[in-house]
Amino acid sequence: MTRIRKALIVGAGIAGPVAALALRRAGIDSVVYEARPGTGDGVGAMLAIAPNGLAALKLLGADRALQALGQPIRTMVMTDGRGKRIGEIPGLAGLPPNWVVDRVEFGRALREQAVAKGIRFEHGKRLLDADETSAAVTARFDDGSAAIGDVLIGADGIHSVVRKLIDPNAPDPVRVPLLNFGGVADIPVAARPDAMYFVFGDRGFFGYWLQPDGRTAWFSNLPSATLMTSAEARAVPADEWLRRLRGAYMQDEPARVLLQHTAADRLVVLGSMEMMPTLPHWHRGRMVLVGDSAHAPSSSSGQGASLAIESAIELARCLRDVPDVGDAFVAFERHRRVRVEQVAARAAKTNQSKTLGPVARTLMRLLMPVAMRTFMDPERTLGAEQRYRIEWSEVVA
Ligand SMILES: Cc1cc2nc3c(=O)[nH]c(=O)nc-3n(C[C@H](O)[C@H](O)[C@H](O)COP(=O)(O)OP(=O)(O)OC[C@H]3O[C@@H](n4cnc5c(N)ncnc54)[C@H](O)[C@@H]3O)c2cc1C
Repeated sequence: MTRIRKALIVGAGIAGPVAALALRRAGIDSVVYEARPGTGDGVGAMLAIAPNGLAALKLLGADRALQALGQPIRTMVMTDGRGKRIGEIPGLAGLPPNWVVDRVEFGRALREQAVAKGIRFEHGKRLLDADETSAAVTARFDDGSAAIGDVLIGADGIHSVVRKLIDPNAPDPVRVPLLNFGGVADIPVAARPDAMYFVFGDRGFFGYWLQPDGRTAWFSNLPSATLMTSAEARAVPADEWLRRLRGAYMQDEPARVLLQHTAADRLVVLGSMEMMPTLPHWHRGRMVLVGDSAHAPSSSSGQGASLAIESAIELARCLRDVPDVGDAFVAFERHRRVRVEQVAARAAKTNQSKTLGPVARTLMRLLMPVAMRTFMDPERTLGAEQRYRIEWSEVVA
């Protein structure tokens, strides 16, 4: 029997609601505390959920929400900026597709599902501090209120406060010299409806896919030595960013035309891409991290949200089965660390290919078709990531 009866979860993004749903399934109550006053921050473009993320959601019956809101993507097509095909990475044999979904809508659906199961969300509660005794942990919020629980779960994202409470010397996220943008163009492009296209353009990387509504969603990773937080980037008017993007992609199709047909109010500006370096401590005492607070692998991985979902469920499984809180956290970290660090390492390599100079970029475009026909094996690169399944019914030793 577990000794944990109540968890305080900080953050109602993706990992927070999933942790609450998984804990409920494990017979543990929780309350989710979210800094934002409302039910959505309204920021963010599309998220990808990989087959492993979908399988994890299925354990909670939350896969249907994703499939109702999202769009299946079965293959990835690589081209150069002239539209010349470089290669294709089809979905792995026997696996369901990847799904792309609006980050804000998906988060809302998860919260609604949790609320329907009786889980309480408290908004406008920004965690500032926490202290603990041998028997409980107390969370302190910016409105002067406090909450007491058996454990405190930091699902508070890449700029986590809980991370610093666990370890004041914890590293901060690292910014990658790539500016992240997303948008929707009001026109269709000639594209397969189940494919995501990756364009290795003259001056930057550009991804796009045709939506069922006939519009085209896109994202850009634009090399930029000037590192910017999302707030700094959003301080620049959207019109100005569109002007710069149109300049950067003027030689690349269909980026050029998609940017012409994207309105400034449909542009999502996220600042420099970020990733978490290896974190020495995931937990201390009664506090633990889950999701981007512990292991944000950078958006190039296509796995950030899927890993956050997996970790939230694995944490609930460990708290269900291991009576001592400290031992449960050790078991959780043992289950997760190698996996998430391998994904982060692959994403870091992908980021390098997006920041190459013009000569190296041309070489890569020439060599990639040969590599894809010969030694590049999608199963070897992505198989372990996408075939991972959580053994929910297996007891954690
Ligand atoms: C603004 C934003 C936009 C994003 N856009 C994209 C995108 O377009 N594509 C993509 O692939 N990924 C995007 N991501 C990343 C993606 O959402 C995450 O990788 C994934 O959702 C897993 O995150 P998480 O639940 O661990 O953290 P998040 O989704 O970041 O959720 C963390 C939650 O904690 C809350 N919080 C933070 N600090 C505190 C505190 N002190 N007290 C209480 N609550 C707190 C935040 O308000 C947030 O709701 C974005 C993230 C953010 C924050």
